[in-house]
Amino acid sequence: MSDYYVKIIPDDPYCRVNTSVAKRVRDYLEEHMEAMSVEIETQEALAFVDCGAYLQEIACPFCGSDLWDWWGAAMDAEAGENGLFAKIDEKMLPCCGRRASLNDLRYDYPCGFACTEWIVLNPRVQLEQHHIETVERLLGMHIKVIYSRI
Ligand SMILES: [Zn+2]
Repeated sequence: MSDYYVKIIPDDPYCRVNTSVAKRVRDYLEEHMEAMSVEIETQEALAFVDCGAYLQEIACPFCGSDLWDWWGAAMDAEAGENGLFAKIDEKMLPCCGRRASLNDLRYDYPCGFACTEWIVLNPRVQLEQHHIETVERLLGMHIKVIYSRI
């Protein structure tokens, strides 16, 4: 069986999480998820947090057009040399001419951008609403959950 990850990120991509708070969240996840490991990853700038092999579609959040090819070029154009993103500004979409950032696109399964992520490897417990609420309370902000498989 291939590895399976549950990645948790702040809903706001630019949010920086204080180290002791980040550890508190990790401890909570370690205690409740029965995972092989729980790691905190922090970056200087925004990293793309992907869903791996679950990624099937990238579409416009407004008109639903497929943006897979456009997305690849847009990611290359915006990423720095280290593969991180200093910012992800809204830009005009090629389909309907409306504006959205790379974070606003409709990724199926969901993906996101973040400076801090918690990576839970092969959890045996399913992440439930009450887990999410507890993590959000520890962090004082909303989170996004990304399911990923290699
Ligand atoms: Zn569109």
